[in-house]
Amino acid sequence: MFSGLKSSARLVSALITVIRGYTFACGGAALGNLSRRSLGVGGSAVQIEIGICSEALEAVTRAVNRVNLEIRMALEKILVCGGGGFIGGHLVADLLGQSKKVRVVDVKPFDEWFQLFPEAENLQLNLQEKESCERAVADVGLVYNLAADMGGMGFIENNKALCMLSVLINTHLIMAAKDAGVDRFFYASSACAYAADKQTDTNVTALKEEDAYPAMPEDGYGWEKLFSERMCRHFLEDFGLTTRVARYHNVYGPQGTYDGGREKAPAAICRKVITAKLSGNHEIEIWGDGKQTRSFMWIDDCVEGTQMIMHGDYAEPLNLGSSELVSINRLVDIVEEIAGAKLKRRYNLQAPKGVSGRNSDNTLIQKIFGWEPSTRLRDGLERTYAWIYDQMAVPSAKRRVAAQAVQ
Ligand code: NAD
Repeated sequence: MFSGLKSSARLVSALITVIRGYTFACGGAALGNLSRRSLGVGGSAVQIEIGICSEALEAVTRAVNRVNLEIRMALEKILVCGGGGFIGGHLVADLLGQSKKVRVVDVKPFDEWFQLFPEAENLQLNLQEKESCERAVADVGLVYNLAADMGGMGFIENNKALCMLSVLINTHLIMAAKDAGVDRFFYASSACAYAADKQTDTNVTALKEEDAYPAMPEDGYGWEKLFSERMCRHFLEDFGLTTRVARYHNVYGPQGTYDGGREKAPAAICRKVITAKLSGNHEIEIWGDGKQTRSFMWIDDCVEGTQMIMHGDYAEPLNLGSSELVSINRLVDIVEEIAGAKLKRRYNLQAPKGVSGRNSDNTLIQKIFGWEPSTRLRDGLERTYAWIYDQMAVPSAKRRVAAQAVQ
């Protein structure tokens, strides 16, 4: 997992290299100065020397500032908004594993949080309200905004207004973050921000970051994501607040929604296969014709990439997704293999099915970080299936921690 201190150490050694390099450059300039003086062009040689040395000073100052920032970011309190949810809960677990101080905020009662850690500061607040946002950001250095009213395709197609109201969360949170002078603000955007006309074919060309424009995102949910991305951009440009944006492509894993209408395809298919196994009714309903294609990112890759983007220097929205493309039919095949079951497929062509095809082009994240999400779908699905199976086979074993566990 990403470690702020490790990267600080890397920066310190980069800083030493910079200083060494420029000491050499200044020394070289001084020698050049001597020889040019002897040729009688001393005035311009002195200017060259001073020019190079002030460049060196600027570079050293930049590097020192960067090291300072990294050290501060490694030590200060981190706010995770939406930390009672799926991705937020895993992010909190990872940050606590790095011994960070973490404040977690979610609107849900504590007994509905997927993961609840007594060692974190846990608050139940509605972040659509500005006062709650002000309370949430007080004394924190980094803000991760993962709070949103969202769900899988079934939810976002039928709840466009609710999805758009999440704009209140990001708006109030970023205003409060600016006023509180936080160091960095991360916004969780989505592949739903991409223009629909680039996703009409199951045989997809993976989406590059620039494909979000001209804008024609997913109605409701996608428009909110695109708008909030722009807000981050303009808070950076106009107010100097350092913002980072990742466009997540379908994230899956344990400790997330698998029933109730907000679940996404991997969890829904695991649940349906498990239901068929447990009930003995060996049938499965698939939304659409099953030929629609997607990529799915394992949660640990998402958590790692999120922190990488937060700590990195790239300020524009960046894809964070797997590039392993599968059809929904193939996804069902894999879950059946894991379950050791073969089910009769019933296709519901009236059900919401989203765009025909979508994949993540990872050229840019590779170029910037030399990294991309790489956990094989089959490996992540085995662990997701096992967790959902445990929840369904023994419901009382649900790992949601009771509210009284919070101090
Ligand atoms: P999630 O629904 O599990 O978590 C979101 C959390 O935000 C929930 O716990 C919810 O209670 C909380 N929340 C909602 N309204 C709130 C409010 N007014 N105040 C405080 N908390 C509030 O979703 P997730 O899968 O963890 O997604 C996290 C973020 O990533 C969201 O912004 C989502 O849009 C984005 N995203 C997720 C995926 C994915 O595949 N899971 C894909 C693209 C983008």
